[in-house]
Amino acid sequence: MTFAYEALPMRVLFGAGSRRQLPLEAERLGLRRLLVLSTPGQRVLAGHAATLLGDACAGLFTEGRMHVPLEIAEAARVAARDAGADGCLAIGGGSTVGLGKAVALESGLPVISVPTTYSGSEMTTVWGLTENGRKRTGRDRAVLPRSVVYDPELTVGLPADVSVTSGFNAIAHAVEALYAPDASPIVSLMAEEGVRSLATALPVIAADPADIGARTDALRGAWLCGACLGATTMSLHHKLCHILGGTFDLPHAAVHTVVLPYAAAFNLPAAPAAGRALCRALATDDVPKRLARASAELGAPRSLAELGLTERDFDEIIAQAQAGPYANPRPVTAQALRALLTDALKGTLAP
Ligand code: NAD
Repeated sequence: MTFAYEALPMRVLFGAGSRRQLPLEAERLGLRRLLVLSTPGQRVLAGHAATLLGDACAGLFTEGRMHVPLEIAEAARVAARDAGADGCLAIGGGSTVGLGKAVALESGLPVISVPTTYSGSEMTTVWGLTENGRKRTGRDRAVLPRSVVYDPELTVGLPADVSVTSGFNAIAHAVEALYAPDASPIVSLMAEEGVRSLATALPVIAADPADIGARTDALRGAWLCGACLGATTMSLHHKLCHILGGTFDLPHAAVHTVVLPYAAAFNLPAAPAAGRALCRALATDDVPKRLARASAELGAPRSLAELGLTERDFDEIIAQAQAGPYANPRPVTAQALRALLTDALKGTLAP
């Protein structure tokens, strides 16, 4: 066995109520003037964070939006400069974490991240910015949060349907990490345990979003899956979801949820060790079917048609998916892509 593994410099604080450690966390990093970032929907939460920080809060910027439009990133950068901020505190889902990364990319300001969904962005050096309807992404160590505070109590208000799709978004990171070209034994352990935690917790959350035990397990799973995303190179599944989100404006987490069973059905026959790990984690001998059924039974969308895609969009998706080379356990032909998209469009694996 040969592999390379590079650990990212990352401090994680985990546990119910851990948000109350934010002032100490800021002090530990030597930060005295943090700009608090959020989306408009999480303004109240941002206000609570500002209150917790007290004098260490330099201001709030609450205009975060999905896929980080460039003009929003620039407004946040200006707000940070005007406030004399020496860092940002990004509290919210992947969109808010992404905004913190956009500020860090330009200014080098350190970010403390407090994730409230299961997207996993806080664990990666990947940034994204959208300009004129096209999303650019890249990797830069400067955008990696210095400190991540996971407080399951902050996820209790995440609606059940968003929790489910966000959870499957996290599972998708682990699935692709298991067959990544830069996979390693430690990443595979994290991936298997991350999938197990989320698969166990999500049905409980769907029934009772306030179950703090299940919220804790799900957030721990999301952390592990996010760490897998940060440590490896993603393949066909993430490529397709990036196109469907970026070009067709389909909702990020829901697209991951719908496409994952079909990407797994295509790739797992060429990745037997990944398949075995997922069978153990999901307690099944048919991973694609189990993924499709589990998400559908929890109320998630079952097909790309349900999300608004049509067969007319296939040529564009296939062209984009074949435009740049990327790692995948199986060669990806136009014919295979069309078959995969046809199944996902109809939701053939869902009950
Ligand atoms: P999101 O951040 O847009 O959140 C969805 C909605 O839920 C928002 O309106 C938000 O305000 C609300 N919300 C979040 N947490 C909540 C809570 N606990 N209670 C109530 N409401 C809450 O969605 P997301 O799926 O977390 O993130 C998607 C974005 O993250 C996309 O732009 C995607 O590209 C990006 N992403 C980036 C990476 C990376 O590594 N760079 C990884 C994953 C996702």
